Amino acid sequence: MPVVTRFAPSPTGFLHIGGARTALYNWLFAQHHARHGDGGTFLLRIEDTDRARSTQAAVDAIYDGLSWLGLDWDGDAISQFERADQHRAAAERLLAEGKAYKCYCSPDELSAMREAARAEGRKRMYDGTWRDRDPSEAPAGVDPVIRLKAPQDGETVIEDLVQGRVTVANEQLDDMVLLRADGTPTYMLAVVVDDHDMGVTHVIRGDDHLTNAFRQTQLYLALGWETPVFAHIPLIHGADGAKMSKRHGALGVETYRDDGFLPEALCNYLLRLGWSHGDDEIISTEQAIEWFGLDSVGKSPARFDLAKLTNLNGHYIREADDGRLVDLVMERLEQAHPGKLAKEARDRLFKGMAGLKERAKTISELTENSSFYAIQRPIEMTEKAAGHLGPEGSALLRDLRPVFADAESWSDEALMAAAKNFAEAGGIKLGAVAQPVRAALTGNTVSPSVFEIMDVLGREETLGRIDDALGGP
Ligand code: GLU
Repeated sequence: MPVVTRFAPSPTGFLHIGGARTALYNWLFAQHHARHGDGGTFLLRIEDTDRARSTQAAVDAIYDGLSWLGLDWDGDAISQFERADQHRAAAERLLAEGKAYKCYCSPDELSAMREAARAEGRKRMYDGTWRDRDPSEAPAGVDPVIRLKAPQDGETVIEDLVQGRVTVANEQLDDMVLLRADGTPTYMLAVVVDDHDMGVTHVIRGDDHLTNAFRQTQLYLALGWETPVFAHIPLIHGADGAKMSKRHGALGVETYRDDGFLPEALCNYLLRLGWSHGDDEIISTEQAIEWFGLDSVGKSPARFDLAKLTNLNGHYIREADDGRLVDLVMERLEQAHPGKLAKEARDRLFKGMAGLKERAKTISELTENSSFYAIQRPIEMTEKAAGHLGPEGSALLRDLRPVFADAESWSDEALMAAAKNFAEAGGIKLGAVAQPVRAALTGNTVSPSVFEIMDVLGREETLGRIDDALGGP
């Protein structure tokens, strides 16, 4: 059967990384099957039935987050709220078939049942009061809820692709409410009807939904529909093993974007967080599509490790196309230094990117390290850099200026050769010569090679910066 997966977030907050991982697994599973001629559709359903908590901003954050990660969905996103009529129709059908019933219990009666169940240590709360009662006994003026007439003995079984075979005794499960007294469908009903109508074949989601899967299975059976294949993935835990919270990095994906992570790095990291392919750590999207399967999803919760993600990000920055990195860096620089960028900024960044990207682990770091190329002179100097331009450093720089100005050609190699001759003649180490130059050109104490920087900046700008550092030509 052609594979259809879905991601079904509730738009009550941002798209956090746990949700992003769920989306990724569903997307990869669909892509894998599409590649191997087995259908492969990935659908998006916004579970917006909680009207008080669902916001358009959260829906937009989900669209943006998924698009940024490259997890494109097929067709338009489906709104669960807009499908209430279909949900109701399914409940009405069960009612007509005698597989569901109207329950008129008052809130007081229900809380008395809850108390009694607690006192007797029973899991099942609802005592079935209206299960077999004649509708003619209905109290006047009370709107009933509709409950599923769930099986009372035997067990409900799920053959979960990750968790294995899981069972629950039916006597532990209540006759769940399908429609509330005001006619609105419950979440459990909505999920089942939607997944069925959307043709979902595989439900891949966090294992916090495993208990829901039992009730949903009962509902599928009552409706006479085939159950989808379930795969409940262990949740992501924090580095300390506790359930993931904001403190552990359970943030929206946009926070990771703002902090300078590349989408492919986050995807690679999230992929490995719960799924493995031998010892492979760096896995391209291409390979992931080829290799992904639910049989290699781990059974125990993975721990989120920011240092690992950061290292992986460094790898993807080194791999990334220079032009793309320049765009990302320019966008940040324009925001941070409005009106202060040199008109040559983009060209210089592009020329210098190969040297810059070697040492950055995030786009934020890359931006910070690149800013000296982009900002108009005179550039600002850190205190440490200024330390290299004391009387001694300045004297050295003053002597060096004509050496550079007269260099045979303005190239990395020629400038280095000139500086080497100068250093040898004066009995100084090349590194010592480089420090005041670096301070003058970058305002900093660490950077790519100063000769590379001079090459990128060009003759006029380099000499201008040296003059700025010396307090004028
Ligand atoms: N809306 C649920 C959530 O955001 C997911 C439901 C499902 O995947 O079945 O956790």
